[in-house]
Amino acid sequence: MKRLEPVIGLEIHVQLKTKTKMFCGCPAHEAGAAPNANTCPVCLGQPGTLPVVNAEAVKMGVRMGLALGCAIAPRSKFDRKHYFYPDLPKGYQISQYDQPIASEGELTFEVHAKDAPRPVATIRIERAHLEEDAAKNVHPSTGSGLAQTYVDFNRAGVPLVEIVTGPDFRSPAEAKAFLTELRLIARTLGVSDADMEKGQLRCDANVSMRELDADGNVVGPKFHPKTEVKNLNSFRHVERALAYEIKRQGELWEADSPPAESTTRGWNDALQKTEPQRVKEAEGDYRYFPEPDLPPLELSELADVERAKMPELPSAKRARFVSEYALKGEDARQIVEDPSLADFAEAVFSEMHAWLQALPELDGAEEAVWEKERSRIGKLVSSWLTTKLLGALAARGGDVRTMKVDAENFAELLVLVATGKLNQTNAAVALEEMLESGADPSHVMEDKRLGAMQDAGVIATAVDRVIANFPAEVARYKAGEKQLLQFLIGMVMKETEGTADAKEARNMLLVKLEG
Ligand code: ADP
Ligand code: ZN
Ligand code: MG
Repeated sequence: MKRLEPVIGLEIHVQLKTKTKMFCGCPAHEAGAAPNANTCPVCLGQPGTLPVVNAEAVKMGVRMGLALGCAIAPRSKFDRKHYFYPDLPKGYQISQYDQPIASEGELTFEVHAKDAPRPVATIRIERAHLEEDAAKNVHPSTGSGLAQTYVDFNRAGVPLVEIVTGPDFRSPAEAKAFLTELRLIARTLGVSDADMEKGQLRCDANVSMRELDADGNVVGPKFHPKTEVKNLNSFRHVERALAYEIKRQGELWEADSPPAESTTRGWNDALQKTEPQRVKEAEGDYRYFPEPDLPPLELSELADVERAKMPELPSAKRARFVSEYALKGEDARQIVEDPSLADFAEAVFSEMHAWLQALPELDGAEEAVWEKERSRIGKLVSSWLTTKLLGALAARGGDVRTMKVDAENFAELLVLVATGKLNQTNAAVALEEMLESGADPSHVMEDKRLGAMQDAGVIATAVDRVIANFPAEVARYKAGEKQLLQFLIGMVMKETEGTADAKEARNMLLVKLEG
């Protein structure tokens, strides 16, 4: 067996969420529009028409480039890329050839997969450029057996940013993790929803293999002919197609006949394999030349403005949630994955921290004490967000953006838990009611009588019963095993079916045991 390593590079198209198309005023993303309703002489490629650059698309492209750590070209231009295909009315696509808006960036991201060779990967971004989308070929099933193709030009001219990575991925899991991060970045920047199912994010995956020696050094040439797997439209397809190619090419390598030339393939999801694809046009001979109808773009000022306006990117937000709110890395990741949940978490933490600040017992406390409190609040908030709240929302089919509970009420609920006024079980009941009615937690608590019971008589009876029922534990406690107090408190809670105020129970136990 040879020691082989996959070499993977991605070419990604992201549809930009502009109101209008790249070079004309037609609506770019009108949901439910009739086929060919959103067209005009420009995007239908009629002779004598002139394109006008969509400034919003340029801004979005620049934002994307900046988020990927790219240098923004001070001067950038458009080129015509020629090929013949029914989805391309002009016979060329307006794209960018040698002066893309952005180049030479990189993205570092975590890879969470059991068999991933690297837990963190950094992938170079070769370039990002603007172009227009092609029309969409539709193949309706006619039932007649006759093959028919319709062309819907609503998509023709929709703005795209194409991102080309270096050949830097070493596993399908890395490719998937990168795309997931890219999608989140696009959403954070507001440039695209980047939904692969909807074709807003499309990916061509290039893959080849190379041989390594025992020390992990590359044997022979660094790069070999590659397969380009075209038009992958889900994360799963990307992963599967790459895994399939790695296996297929690996077998060729083992048989000492690695691929001799680069080829284009497609993913057949029904058969779960890649297969050779007819090549659109003599690839590589696009006869690029500068688009004479569009002036070059001067981007220096725009880049400065957009850089100053950059929102916090997901990786920075994760790191801040860990350092500022004492979240575990995994929880931070889950929360940041959903921008509206992250905003909500931020608001909840700010309320909780304001409450901590106001606690008289923490006034003038040492930093170590604060640290401990922040970490306690971090654990409490993250578990209530990621399990209880998301669980309750999933069960009722709601979501964070539209739910009736605001951050203030959610924080108030957690303060009740943190201070022992509401136990976890009853707090979950209260949360349900809050999601249902939007009421604030103190009202729900009163209405439903959920508060921790502070009736001294009842708690005292329970304490007496526990002391009588667990003589051995009580004896061991008295002999110095102080950690048994927690057990005895638990038993008092059990006696009162979880209703007792735990602090009260603890105080009474201490009086009885130590007295
Ligand atoms: P092409 O000549 O097919 O246009 P490019 O050099 O423009 O190739 O690269 C296209 C994509 O393929 C990039 O994402 C790049 O990282 C990747 N790539 C280039 N060479 C290889 C290779 N030998 N194996 C895997 N991916 C590669
Ligand atoms: Zn148009
Ligand atoms: Mg290329």
